Amino acid sequence: MGPQPGELVLQAPARGRPPQHLLDLDAAGRRDAVVALGLPAFRADQVSRHWLGRLEDDPSTWTDLPAAVRDQITAALLPPLLTPVRALTCDGGATVKTVWRLHDGSLVESVLMRYRATASSRERTTMCISSQAGCGMNCPFCATGQAGLTRNLSTAEIVEQALAGARSLARGDVAGGPGRVSNIVFMGMGEPLANYRSVVGALHRLCDAAPSGLGLSARGITVSTVGLVPRIRELAGEGLPVTLAVSLHAPDDELRDTLVPINTRWKVSEVLDAAWAYAEATGRRISIEYALIKDVNDQRWRAELLADLLVGHLVHVNLIPLNPTPGSKWTASRRQDERAFVRALEDRGVPVTVRDTRGREIDGACGQLAAATA
Ligand code: SAH
Repeated sequence: MGPQPGELVLQAPARGRPPQHLLDLDAAGRRDAVVALGLPAFRADQVSRHWLGRLEDDPSTWTDLPAAVRDQITAALLPPLLTPVRALTCDGGATVKTVWRLHDGSLVESVLMRYRATASSRERTTMCISSQAGCGMNCPFCATGQAGLTRNLSTAEIVEQALAGARSLARGDVAGGPGRVSNIVFMGMGEPLANYRSVVGALHRLCDAAPSGLGLSARGITVSTVGLVPRIRELAGEGLPVTLAVSLHAPDDELRDTLVPINTRWKVSEVLDAAWAYAEATGRRISIEYALIKDVNDQRWRAELLADLLVGHLVHVNLIPLNPTPGSKWTASRRQDERAFVRALEDRGVPVTVRDTRGREIDGACGQLAAATA
């Protein structure tokens, strides 16, 4: 029997595995795969240079390879993994949300968000990507959590979302002219640390130098988790100093047990201990995600308790006004309560920002667009 609604699911069903793709493999694995096709190993490096280095996804342009070799490699190692089924833009074209259909019909979404340079920050473009089709963590305020877990994405399915954004920026298809992806956040559908192997593979593909990978800086990549403690500790040892975001949403176990049900397994104190160990191992500041929900988790005493837990650590709090899911009984906090929450943290020396709410009018993030398409 499959998982029931309202159940925590850590182990993904072993179904729907996509065909193998070049991006599932590291540089050595790609050479082996090309040799297994009866071709010389250097063909793998040539293809990687086109696919990842130059973002050229049309094999007919790879004129340094014979046409027959291009066809053979494309058929064996570059199966189409993502088919766009819907794309929506807002913010004058600077936010682009895409729903993708996978080979087995599953839907996932990614969001490109382009930010202009300001007096205090450089221009940047962030891709928000999915790591699972659906999610098994069952957080009651999250649209993806309501749909349950369909399956894990493969490494290539994850990386191809980022590449799709990189290609459209390179082509100049995004408002603001040609550009590059500077940041990646694992804040689309799914719990990245519940799909650990594929996500770590994807982190390597994103960070490894070209042509092995996309050559992005690890510090520009954020992995967001509900708090799978053993996996946080494992990630700290991977030598990939990505930013860790912890979806805390409550400072006390009583409330967090209901908002983030995995808390019944790993408590607030255990999650934060693992986060501090992560900061220690990587030198990276921990990001604490906290969706402000009116009269649920936005009381002043909770802000003070949160500050007590965090003060003195390498940490930053990201407050997210709740984006209510359709039919939700919850809504975002009142402005004055949000301000008081911010002040309580600031007064105690805890750095805090309120996240801007890009893409709300196109069904927000968090699985809402895929849910509306299904
Ligand atoms: N499973 C991972 C990553 C995906 S969600 C995690 O939970 O961290 C990315 C962030 O969006 C998480 O902090 C999540 O709690 C938050 N989120 C989900 N639904 C939301 C909603 N309706 N409003 C505001 N934030 C939401």
